[in-house]
Amino acid sequence: MNKLYVVGLGPGDHKKMTVEAAGILDKCEVIAGYSVYIDLIKERYGNKEFIVTGMRQEEERCKRAIEKAEEGYKTAVVCSGDSGVYGMAGLIMELCQERENIEVEVVAGVTAALSGGAVLGAPLGHDFSVISLSDLMTTWEKIENRLKCAAMCDMVICLYNPSSRKRKDYLKKACEIVMEYKDWDTVCGYVKNIGRKGEECGILSLNEMKDFEADMFTTVFIGNKETKKIKNQMVTPRGYKI
Ligand code: SAH
Repeated sequence: MNKLYVVGLGPGDHKKMTVEAAGILDKCEVIAGYSVYIDLIKERYGNKEFIVTGMRQEEERCKRAIEKAEEGYKTAVVCSGDSGVYGMAGLIMELCQERENIEVEVVAGVTAALSGGAVLGAPLGHDFSVISLSDLMTTWEKIENRLKCAAMCDMVICLYNPSSRKRKDYLKKACEIVMEYKDWDTVCGYVKNIGRKGEECGILSLNEMKDFEADMFTTVFIGNKETKKIKNQMVTPRGYKI
């Protein structure tokens, strides 16, 4: 049976990839991915055939990878973080549903909420939700509703895709919605370029986060009522009585 792997690379640095993911890339002959992620692994896996495409060319990239797998090459499609979290795993499974000659195996990776959470301290110590602010494939109305619901029940909220060139004010809009239910001084954090060159993090109030200039390589964390700053780290207590 032809096998197609969908592999999460983790945030970027090879050390943060799972041992399983690294082992599978070692044995693959073809690796497909977005140019930014291929750049992260090219040096280590230089002897492979690469299928490299740009942003918004996900479908083409996946179809070409499926063809390679069908030709009998051990093939992996790579995504940053986890391949199932705003990644290619679902799309690949949909594209392969009618193909009897191909089996898809998803290999977990460390998603930005977890790798970024570790950089900040322990912001996800209690219930949390992950919401993407990208309205490319989701209506803004739905995003807004999810933000409201998560804020209303005091979840810690982790925001992916907080900004892009075309969506500069989305983080501000999101913070304003959240602020209808959470206090202005709720402890928040951001991490840019997790596990990559230029990694940078900070802890801000929700009111400050509203005006923070995030880019597309930033993940934002909004705490709950109990979240606090301990020695410059962001901590959401689990609830132990100490
Ligand atoms: N599959 C990825 C998410 C892809 S969506 C994962 O599981 O992590 C893209 C968003 O993820 C970015 O806009 C950013 O919010 C977040 N992200 C992914 N990698 C990141 C990194 N190295 N540093 C900071 N944020 C990252």
